[in-house]
Amino acid sequence: MDVERSFDNPLPCRKAQQEEWRGWKSLLARSITSIPKLEAHFALRFQEIASVLARYPMRINPYYLSLIKKVGDPIYRQCVPDPKEIADTRGLEDPLDEGRLSPVPGLIHRYPDRVVFLVSNQCAVYCRFCNRKRMVGRPDVVTRETIQGGLEYIKKTCSVRDVLLSGGDPLLLDTRFLQCILKELRSIRHVEIIRIGTRVPCTLPQRITSDLVNTLKCFHPLYINTHFNHPREITSEAARACGMLADAGIPLGNQTVLLEGVNDDTRTMVELVQRLLQIRVRPYYLFQADLVKGTAHFWTPIQKGLQIMAAIQGHTSGMCLPHFAVDLPGGGGKVPLLPDYVLETRPDHIKVKNYMGRVFSYPTDPGKTQSAP
Ligand SMILES: *Cc1c(COP(=O)(O)O)cnc(C)c1O
Ligand code: SF4
Repeated sequence: MDVERSFDNPLPCRKAQQEEWRGWKSLLARSITSIPKLEAHFALRFQEIASVLARYPMRINPYYLSLIKKVGDPIYRQCVPDPKEIADTRGLEDPLDEGRLSPVPGLIHRYPDRVVFLVSNQCAVYCRFCNRKRMVGRPDVVTRETIQGGLEYIKKTCSVRDVLLSGGDPLLLDTRFLQCILKELRSIRHVEIIRIGTRVPCTLPQRITSDLVNTLKCFHPLYINTHFNHPREITSEAARACGMLADAGIPLGNQTVLLEGVNDDTRTMVELVQRLLQIRVRPYYLFQADLVKGTAHFWTPIQKGLQIMAAIQGHTSGMCLPHFAVDLPGGGGKVPLLPDYVLETRPDHIKVKNYMGRVFSYPTDPGKTQSAP
C-alpha cells in the first residue's frame, strides 16, 4: 500500500480506489460471452459460431466492444468469433512447442537466461488470433499449484535472470495476489528483471488503477510489454493507462501481431507505431502470426511484414521501429527478419540500399582501406 498517500488523505483516496476497482470488475462482468448477447448487440444471427464457442471461449468487454464501428472492422475481427476458426486444418495446437519446453507446467524455458511464466488464464478479451488459443480461458491450465511449481523452478534455476509473466493476462489477477507473486520473485537473488506481458492497457485500460500502479512500482526493474494492434485502439483511456504506468517509471514496450484485415497495410502500421510513441509506448516486436490452429484466416505473407518494416525505417522516427520476427515452429525461437539492405558483399566493400532505394558502397573494413571509396 502507498502508506504516505493514505496517511495524507485517507478517506478520499481509499474511496477512489474502491470505485476504480468496482469499475473494471464490473466492466468485465458485463462482457459478451454468449451468442444471444452477441445477437442482441449486433442485431444479427450468430448461430454458425456455436461450434467455435464449444472449443474457444469468447469475451468482449463493453469497453473494447465500444471501439467497434461496424461489423467486420479491424476491432471486430480481433474479438468476434469466426466460423473459420473451426474449419482451419492447417494450424497446429502448439506450434512453438511450448509444452515440450516446459520443465514444470505453466513455465516455458526455451532460452538460456529467461523464462515465460504463465500466471493467469484469464484475459479482458479473448483475441481470436491468440497464440495460446489452446489454453486461454480454461480453468485447469494455470492454478495456485502450477504457480507455486513455477516459483520453485525459478528459485532453483540460477541461470534465470529475466522472468516474463504472461498467460492469459497477468493483470487480470487480483492486485494482492499479483503482489505476492512479485514479492516471491523479487526475493530470488538471481532474478534481475521482471517483465509483464499484458493486453490490458489496450483491451481494458480501466484496470490500470492507482492501487495497481503503486503496487507495481515497488518491484523495479519492472518492464511492461503491452499489445496494441490497430491505431483505433489508442484512445484517451489507453493513453491515460499508459501514462500512469510510465509515470511510475515502468518502461513500456509494445508487441503487435500482423493480422490480415486488421493491420496488414503500411498506412495503418505507420500510424500505429507513431501513435504508440505519443502515448509513451515504444514499439518492440512486430510478430508474424504464429501457425496456430484456428487462426489461419489471419495469416499474412512474410513479404508483407518486410514491406511494413521498409515503410517505417528511415521514413519516420527510428524510435517507431519494432523488430519484425517470426517465432519458429518446433520451438526454434524468434528470428528477426529485415528487408535486404545489403545488395552485394565484396572483399573490400559492400553495396547497400538506403531507405529511398539509392545505392551506396561502404568499405567492409574501413581501418584497412587505402582511400575512401
Ligand atoms: C518470446 C519469448 C521470450 C522473450 O524473448 P525476448 O526476445 O527476450 O523478448 C522468452 N521465452 C520464450 C519462451 C519466448 O517465447
Ligand atoms: S490478451 Fe493475449 S493471451 Fe489473452 S487472448 Fe489476447 S492474445 Fe491471447
